[in-house]
Amino acid sequence: MANFQTHLNTSLVISTGLSVFGYMHDLYGIITAVFCVLIGTMGGLLPDIDLESSTPAQVGFFWASLGVATLMAVLYAMHRTGADVLVHTLLIWAVGFCVVRLGVFGLFSYLTVHRGMVHSVPYVAMCGLLVVYGSFWGLKTTAFVSWLFGVFLFFGGLVHLLLDEIYSVNVLNVSLKRSAGTAFKFYERKKPWRYFILYTLIAVLVFFAPDYHDTWRVMKALAISLFELGEKLPLPDELLERITQHLP
Ligand SMILES: [Zn+2]
Repeated sequence: MANFQTHLNTSLVISTGLSVFGYMHDLYGIITAVFCVLIGTMGGLLPDIDLESSTPAQVGFFWASLGVATLMAVLYAMHRTGADVLVHTLLIWAVGFCVVRLGVFGLFSYLTVHRGMVHSVPYVAMCGLLVVYGSFWGLKTTAFVSWLFGVFLFFGGLVHLLLDEIYSVNVLNVSLKRSAGTAFKFYERKKPWRYFILYTLIAVLVFFAPDYHDTWRVMKALAISLFELGEKLPLPDELLERITQHLP
């Protein structure tokens, strides 16, 4: 498997690239763009939260949590006015840090062994959906921005799993290490019930999630633009107008 530094660098570079790409197409503002980078990087570290005894992991999780909490506070402060804004902002910052550091990075590491469920595609998908919910109902971002954050976490996680899978192939000898096939997985035979619950949870989360159609259309357009190196996104004006209103 790839080490912590490799995961950090790779997810940071890929998230930054994708985020800048969307920013250059005027899909969102600079704060959303920075948020995307942070969340994508967090996603790239997420599957190894059960390895957090190592020092770089500890430091990485600390800064990722601090960054996300700070941006949550900034996002909140930008949309509110009144006497209590400062107190509320500080509260959100403190609570946000604890929730991300202990909740997201901490809690699940107790529930699993390394390369267990945390290290699977459906788990990363569930975390992405939780980000969509937290952003939409917690931070009151638009459905488009909420899904954007969720997708960035999901992509970051996928990059992590793929990277581990690639590293388990010994390139020079073209032989497979014993860990091959354990990184990028959708299911484990030994834990049918746990996966059943996980997939059920995902289905429920998708069912009640905010509307994803705008995000889906934008992603398709971005993919086409990325592969054809097009200048302008092939998106109708009414859609662009809808997703870019009240942009942070
Ligand atoms: Zn890993």
